[in-house]
Amino acid sequence: MSKKIAVTTPQSEVSPRPFAYRNRLLHCDEADLTALAAEHGTPLYVYSAQQISHRFQLFEAAFATRPHTICYAVKANSSLAILRLLGKQGAGFDIVSGGELKRVRKAHKPALKKVVFSGVGKQLWEIDAALEADILLFNVESEAELHLLAARAKALGKTARFALRVNPDVFAETHPYISTGLSEHKFGIGIKAARSIYRSAKKSKWLDPAGVSVHIGSQIRKVDPFAAALTRVTSLIADLRHDGHNIRYVDAGGGLGIDYGATAFDPAKQVAKYAAAITKGLGTEPANLLLEPGRFIVAQAGALLTRILYIKKNGTKTFVITDAGINDLIRPALYHAHHEIIPIKQPAGKSTFTADVVGPVCESGDFFARDRILPPVKPNDLILLLDAGAYGMSQTSNYNSRPRPAEVLIDNATTRLIRRRETMRDLLAPELL
Ligand SMILES: *Cc1c(COP(=O)(O)O)cnc(C)c1O
Repeated sequence: MSKKIAVTTPQSEVSPRPFAYRNRLLHCDEADLTALAAEHGTPLYVYSAQQISHRFQLFEAAFATRPHTICYAVKANSSLAILRLLGKQGAGFDIVSGGELKRVRKAHKPALKKVVFSGVGKQLWEIDAALEADILLFNVESEAELHLLAARAKALGKTARFALRVNPDVFAETHPYISTGLSEHKFGIGIKAARSIYRSAKKSKWLDPAGVSVHIGSQIRKVDPFAAALTRVTSLIADLRHDGHNIRYVDAGGGLGIDYGATAFDPAKQVAKYAAAITKGLGTEPANLLLEPGRFIVAQAGALLTRILYIKKNGTKTFVITDAGINDLIRPALYHAHHEIIPIKQPAGKSTFTADVVGPVCESGDFFARDRILPPVKPNDLILLLDAGAYGMSQTSNYNSRPRPAEVLIDNATTRLIRRRETMRDLLAPELL
């Protein structure tokens, strides 16, 4: 049996998305997607700058009553123009590599002092680059990493502000690949072991134990786990203060989920609920709050525009074959993620058919939807995969020697190409014969 998913338009009462029909043609804010496809080709990532800013400002407003910095998680979408857009509004950044540090430097250099550096496998050159940049905080994920950080800080004559990323052993219901807060996961340091590690760090004058950090996973829809994690972290901070550490930062990580479905979803309400849970977990804790949202800021601002190449039948099944593939958007294959799919021309009637929407890549996992109920579409039509702004472009690859898509950023009436389509020359450039 095929799962019944209503044919949807993004025009819910509280639309969380910047895409809507005008004169029966889909637009992103003011921009006509048909014209964008004609100008820039497909597959094409399309983003609304207004929507990204709006989401960021929702976070700002929700935490306005306490000292805080919103460190956008670069890995969700690392395009320079998007980093600059957020940086100019005062965002800090959560990075997970030396490459992402370079991106922040290039996009908005003043934001370097608001960078937090997460990740379980930081290399020496990455630690050095972050020390030289004088970032705000290293989120340290093991004792061995802390030793290397101390050694490099000493070698460079710098003081390294750090937080241990603790693993609070809190279960957050999400896809297993993006759940991180249980002791079975590779992330963080068991919260019980943390106190003694902070104590030993005091022996190095190159280390400044400045905070405690936690990140329990991604696409988390219920807010209670955030409160539970913060309660545990706050209690640890009390112990650390008792031990004489000057803890100034509490980093609550990212992970707030969105609704990828067709139902109305009010982002402002969701952020308010999230802020209430964080506040509850923190109690009277006065430390500067750091937040690392990624998906919530950019996912629904972006979509992947693709053209239908062929429609074919195999037995009873119908396949809609698009010019975008798994290399352009891997989320359905990697996380069994659902993306709403809508046609660029508003359907006139109510007739539908059921099909798998698949890409051209030679993998059975190369699909965007299975047994999806779609309005009538035909080859050469354009369709839009919604909510692809996060973990879309940033997870693209060149698999099957496919150049990566182009990206456009729409800001009111202006449309800007923020990344040109790759060429085969780009792909072949590093290779030697
Ligand atoms: C991926 C990640 C984030 C962002 O998660 P979202 O679900 O996109 O908000 C934040 N912090 C850390 C440490 C991460 O690994």
